Amino acid sequence: MAPQTCTQTSTTSPTLTRATDRCDRCGAQAWVKVNVIVSEGDLPLLFCKHHYERNEKALVQRENVAVVVDDRAHINHKPTS
Ligand SMILES: [Zn+2]
Repeated sequence: MAPQTCTQTSTTSPTLTRATDRCDRCGAQAWVKVNVIVSEGDLPLLFCKHHYERNEKALVQRENVAVVVDDRAHINHKPTS
């Protein structure tokens, strides 16, 4: 397993960690982004850690839900912008 570097400079992987990404439920900073596939297309939903973990069980059971970004590992890292 390759050692994981923890930089904020990568532009290839989709990450949230932007202060402008806000939980759809409470407005706190979002750390998890999921895509819900609906008939109109993809419906992106943003969750803070609290609300994602509250809904995680129900979300992962649904076949039309895909977790695109899970940045909870970065919660204790300060975003650069
Ligand atoms: Zn929330």
